Amino acid sequence: MNVEAQYYTKLDNKKVQCNLCHHTCVISDGNAGICLIRQNIEGKLYQTSYNEVTSLNIDPVEKKPLYHFFPGTEVLSLGTNGCNLKCPFCQNWQISTQITTRKSVTIDELLDISFKNNIKSIAYTYNEPIIWYEFVLDCMKAFRKAGIKNIMVSNGCINPEPLHGIIPYLDAINIDIKGFNSNFYKWVKGNFDLVKQTVETISKTDIHMELTNLIIPTKNDDENEFESMCKWIASLNPNIVLHISRYFPSYKCNIPPTNTDTIANLYEKAKKHLKFVYPGNINIGNNTENTYCPDCSALLIKRSGFNTKTILKDNRCPHCNRVADFIIT
Ligand code: SF4
Repeated sequence: MNVEAQYYTKLDNKKVQCNLCHHTCVISDGNAGICLIRQNIEGKLYQTSYNEVTSLNIDPVEKKPLYHFFPGTEVLSLGTNGCNLKCPFCQNWQISTQITTRKSVTIDELLDISFKNNIKSIAYTYNEPIIWYEFVLDCMKAFRKAGIKNIMVSNGCINPEPLHGIIPYLDAINIDIKGFNSNFYKWVKGNFDLVKQTVETISKTDIHMELTNLIIPTKNDDENEFESMCKWIASLNPNIVLHISRYFPSYKCNIPPTNTDTIANLYEKAKKHLKFVYPGNINIGNNTENTYCPDCSALLIKRSGFNTKTILKDNRCPHCNRVADFIIT
């Protein structure tokens, strides 16, 4: 369904400029922006994928990944087509790089599914939710009203004004830090400064934020750069959760998978600066998938794959009473 877009400017000759992300696409009549789902139709910009989903599932919240937000609960997860980045290693390229068959679903139907399944949260995920802005925002408002939490899984490349439009409705976010330099972001057609700005803005709110860094051998596995990233995260808040994720070849990227030692080494580096660090897509042993209290080392959450056993009763360590930086209730 087409719905007129927010955050755009009309230009001469029926052109429009989208102001949602760093690309600020100038789009001629009949064409779509880089993200594929924002199109100029007769001099107006439309969101062309409103309430059309490619994927709709109930996932464990740990799969987003969010490890400190209602651990062990299930999340209604949905996405559509398109993306504003062009990562050659995209794991979801089948839906992000082309327009595919989609299914229409109303917000009331999504609420119905959530109520029937006793769902605590909804996640806008699978492709980049920022480019689906109008539908995501309407969903967020309805789900907030229904007492269900809103989660975004995002690359963080959103301009400040639209970001401030969603902040009041957002409860949790996982932002993918693709790399920690401008060159890497050029490779994926993103904007390093904008991602940092988004993370910094969110860190000053009550929104629960976790970060993911996918480690691609030879591309973003430099130890010093990785440590600079960890120091920057720690300067915002050392309790921000970092997931260090193992890469596997996908789409246009044939680089072999990240080896276990690299993830284990970076894990140790991150732990020098951050309280909560987890390896992703890999088991590096030593119970690193579990959460322990940073002060007294008591076990707080035990994980095995997506199975979670929560020892916490509230957001305090039951042993030493330290605030454990979890959203539980
Ligand atoms: S959201 Fe899409 S159309 Fe808008 S500026 Fe970004 S890539 Fe271009």
